[in-house]
Amino acid sequence: MDVIAACGMEAVALAANSSIKLMEEQARQFRPAIAALADEKAAADLRVRLADTNVRVLSGLEGVLEAATLSSADTAIAALVGMAGLRPTLASIREGKRVCLANKETLVCAGPLVLEEAKDYGAKLYPVDSEHSAIFQCLEANRDRGEVKRLILTCSGGPFYGRKREELRGMTRENALQHPNWSMGAKITVDSATLMNKGLEVMEAMHLYGMPAEKISVVIHRESIIHSLVEYCDNAIIAQLGAPDMRLPIQYALTYPKRIPGPATPLDLWNCGPLTFGTPDVEAFPCLALALEAAKTGGTAGAILNGANEAAVGLFLEGEIGFLDIPAKVEKALASVPAVQNPTMQDILDADRAAREAAV
Ligand code: MG
Repeated sequence: MDVIAACGMEAVALAANSSIKLMEEQARQFRPAIAALADEKAAADLRVRLADTNVRVLSGLEGVLEAATLSSADTAIAALVGMAGLRPTLASIREGKRVCLANKETLVCAGPLVLEEAKDYGAKLYPVDSEHSAIFQCLEANRDRGEVKRLILTCSGGPFYGRKREELRGMTRENALQHPNWSMGAKITVDSATLMNKGLEVMEAMHLYGMPAEKISVVIHRESIIHSLVEYCDNAIIAQLGAPDMRLPIQYALTYPKRIPGPATPLDLWNCGPLTFGTPDVEAFPCLALALEAAKTGGTAGAILNGANEAAVGLFLEGEIGFLDIPAKVEKALASVPAVQNPTMQDILDADRAAREAAV
């Protein structure tokens, strides 16, 4: 919303799950035609709060879908968390909108189907995830995708960087929710702590840029200054740098192919200190290895991995299971639910459900 305000864009529809106060604030500031809350009770409350405005308050999945497909919008920012983002994102795609994608689970679960629909409906997808925006920018200088040797995703290492497996056993929800560089929602912050987030991002990159998992590498970069890199066949590496500030990738997805002045924090190279690089510890953080394995398997393996992870992270946030139970549950689901190749949407939904059941 900072970017939209600073760049003189207009928000015609806002959607969220249940954040009543923030939605009321933003609806008053931006005066959209529609404000949708998926949670019915929260929407009823919001309707009362916004009674003095002409903002139309909608509720439930239908409300979110109406916001996602509003004909007066040329662009949709898909920033829902988890597999729940799939239907609204597809709805925007089917309207042929420019879709700025912050919901990585959509591509992890249904990458080929989503991309096919985008092609069929003439919708353009632009990455919002900082790593994918960086790769998008690093690829721009290049004419021929065949010249790309590999994509290199940077990874902050998360709040538990440097700890060994045994030290992770007792980690709690509170420990996991302390991210060193980025302020994000609970689910993605836990994913950062397990490194599952990086695994999901490898799959997201695989689909977005049509690269096999073997040509995508992960490098630990604690400072989150380099947001990702592309290595070319002549061994040149192009990197994108910036202060850790999501407003930049969000803005670039909105203004591409143009660059305009915006609210993102400038990077002070002279005072940002040394940049460091290292190898991820997949023994302490097996979620990354599991995701790379699922990426290589393909088909519904992404949906199985993601479904089990969403269920396990939910249990962890409720204090029901320990930190190391998250990878254990994902591994169990991948071993017990068979992966289907070239899946239909029904296969993907079935895989998601079976994985969630296997993870409890
Ligand atoms: Mg990211």
